[in-house]
Formats: sequence, C-alpha cells, structure tokens
Amino acid sequence: MPPGGGTVGGTEGILRRQSLRESAARTYARALPIVPVRARGMTIEGADGRRYLDCLSGAGTLALGHNHPVVLEAIRKVIDSGAPLHVLDLATPVKDAFTTELFANLPPGLAANARVQFCGPAGTDAVEAALKLVRTATGRSGLLAFTGAYHGMTAGALAASGGARDVEVTRLPYPRDYDCPFGVGGPEGARLGARWTESLLDDPKSGVPQPAGMILEPVQGEGGVIPAPDGWLRRMREITAARGIPLIADEVQTGVGRTGAFWGVDHAGVVPDVMVLSKAIGGSLPLAVIVYRAELDVWEPGAHAGTFRGNQLAMAAGTATLAHVRRNGLAARAAEVGDRMLTALRALAAEHPCIGDVRGRGLMLGVELVDPEAGEVGQAGDAPDGTAGSGAEGGAPHLAAAVRQECLDRGLIVELGGRHSSVVRLLPPLTITDEQAAAVLDRLADALTAAERTRHS
Ligand code: PMP
Repeated sequence: MPPGGGTVGGTEGILRRQSLRESAARTYARALPIVPVRARGMTIEGADGRRYLDCLSGAGTLALGHNHPVVLEAIRKVIDSGAPLHVLDLATPVKDAFTTELFANLPPGLAANARVQFCGPAGTDAVEAALKLVRTATGRSGLLAFTGAYHGMTAGALAASGGARDVEVTRLPYPRDYDCPFGVGGPEGARLGARWTESLLDDPKSGVPQPAGMILEPVQGEGGVIPAPDGWLRRMREITAARGIPLIADEVQTGVGRTGAFWGVDHAGVVPDVMVLSKAIGGSLPLAVIVYRAELDVWEPGAHAGTFRGNQLAMAAGTATLAHVRRNGLAARAAEVGDRMLTALRALAAEHPCIGDVRGRGLMLGVELVDPEAGEVGQAGDAPDGTAGSGAEGGAPHLAAAVRQECLDRGLIVELGGRHSSVVRLLPPLTITDEQAAAVLDRLADALTAAERTRHS
C-alpha cells in the first residue's frame, strides 16, 4: 500500500476536501493536484503511487532536495537531545552554531562587521525587517525598487514588489535583454537603466521621496528569471554608496548556491549593506534573517519583535544545509549543471518557435513562452513597424499552463513565473544528477511538443 494508506480514491477525496475547505487564495495546489506522501532528493511520491521529478523545490527552498540525510540527521539530533523547541530569541547552542556557519559563508566584506537579526519565519518577514531597519537608520521613508520585483506578500514587501503602487516607492527599470524597456537590450539597455536611476536621484524636481534604501534581487525569480548583469549591479552599488543609500539585496531565492555562486551578489563582487535571507537557509523549515552592516544597528531593544524567531529545528536543518553546500562545492556544481541545461534549453528554443527566450543563472532557469503568431519578438521586443509590443508583451499564459500540465502528466513538476505567467521556471535542487537533468530536459521537450500540438489541433 502506498505510504499514507492512500488509494486513488483517497487522493481524490483529499483533493476534493481541500478545494471545498481551503481558501481561494491557494496557489500551487491548484496547478499541482497531487497529494505528496513521501519525498527524497528530487523525487516526490503521491498518495496514488505516482512519482515526480520536482523542479519547483518548495519555490526554490530545497537546496539539497527533499529530506536530505544531513538535514534529517540534524533535526533528529535536536529532538533526541531534549533541547527546547521554542525559545523566543534566547541564545542556544543550536542558534550559536547556525550563526557561526552563516557568518562563515557571508561575503567577507560584510561578515567582518555584520549583525544578524532573526525575523519572523518567512521571507516576507525578513523583507519587512530590512525596510524598517533602513528607514529607522536613515530617518527617511522613500524606497527604490524595481520593475518586475517580487519581495513577498505582507504590506511593505508587497509595496516594494513590481505590481504594486505606493507613494513611497520609486519604481526603477530592472535591466532585461528580452523585451528591454529601452528597446535595445544588452549592456546598452542596462546602461540606460542606470542612467535613468541616477538622473531621478539627482534631479531636485524628479519627485522622488528621499530614499531610505534600494532593494533588489540579484536574479529576479518570480519576475521570470531575469539575471541582473554584473556591471549593472556594480553600478547600483556605486550609485547608492555615493549617495548614502543602503543597498538591500533580497537573496531569499538566490542565496545558498542557487545561482552558481554562494550568494547572487558574489558574481558581481558586490557587498550590499543588508542581505535578506530565507528559503534555503532553513534547510526546508521556516527561517528568515537579515544580515547587515553593524553601523545600521540602531534599533531600540524590542523595536522589531515576534514570537517565532527561534525555530530550533530550522536552525539545525539550516546549519546542516549551509555546511553541506559549502563543503561539497554545490554552488560550483549548480553553475556547471545550470550552464549545460541552459545550452540544452537554447537548442530546444531553436526547434520551438513558441520559445521566445531562455534565461538563467546556475539552477534558476526560465523558458519564456510567446505566441509566435502574435508578431515579431526579440531582443528589443519591438514590432517591425517600430511599435512596441508583440508576443512578448502579452506572453502566452495559456500555452505555459498547458506545458506545466503536460510536464506533470510526464512526471515533472515545474512552476510558472514572469509578468504574464508565461515563463516556465526550473529550480531543481543543487544535488540534481546528470541523469536527472537529462530526464528533466527530455520531459520538458516532450511536454512542449504536446502542448503545441494540442494548441493547433
Ligand atoms: N523575496 C524573494 C526574492 C522571493 O522569491 C520570495 C518568495 N518567492 C520572497 C521574498 C517572499 O518569501 P516568503 O514567500 O517566504 O514570504
């Protein structure tokens, strides 16, 4: 009998009860009608006995895949030791070990003089803490954030995210080669974006509220896998440093080896003033921290508190994960496999006109789907008559949803992202084997062909 005592009827019953009883706000559960009962590494097994290769990885959380032995061992050790599981923000050996391991992995320029703050359990909690910290430290209230950004769902994080409007937030262009807002892409597009940023900051009539900080993702994840060019990131560091504006790197998704370096900012050699960390740092359990330059530590005691800041199991799982990634060079491995997968995806794009673009860094990969019949798409995203737009503008959300379903039918879990939910995202664990990578690519290729065929039939 499958684990969990499930039968096919059991699976259907659980899914039916979920849709009757859970909020309409549920997300992944809608597109992935599976009932996981067992998981190991990259494989999830449903109550009906079906197995899937998981390229969603808890929305990029599972650096080591599901239930990695070092993570399970670390959790068991805490439980068996009789240590308290709930300790508010008190000091414990488990927390001490986590902090030591975290500091050992930080960019040296930050680790030398950093403070860590344990926040509420989710990434969005750490974003809130970061925004409040820089506002407290600078006495200013404005915020610089980017088009296409995603920082979370609580009020402040949401306001900083791309789809939101907020009087305190100045929205700046995040560079993109594909569908570039300036119609040029490449280094010139990035240069123009930086120029616009500088001009807004220095123009006394720009209407920009005095910024307390700039928040950015080194690779936009939910925004559709858009890696920031290294030169642009360095420029943002220079621009903010020159004007005394703290730079906040939201590494919630890019951290812990995911992009092929330990941190996303490492590619550019940039040292931010604040780093926002969650997802992988908890080794699959909820944990979120900010790490920042000690000079910013101007909080009054208790200025930012919360009941759940001391998740001992998450800290133990996180310590084990960070150490395993470091000792086994998994960031370099992510770079190597990711490069090969990117090359293979580009070859796939040559065969499928519905692939408008393929992007990625390390094991954050994205395939942007377009409607090839909607007009010309490309580097600048301009139609031949000079009008902006075309397939890239509206994307192909129905096709992307069909590809996701065809993937699921073939035992592959992928996620969608991007402005129009038209980017098929791959976030496999850093432990993915060459065979698993090949299987992912095969299944995705078949799913694309099947989705295209259905569309034309
Ligand atoms: N920042 C980034 C860059 C993210 O990708 C996410 C989650 N996808 C968040 C913040 C929010 O994290 P959480 O969902 O844990 O609140």
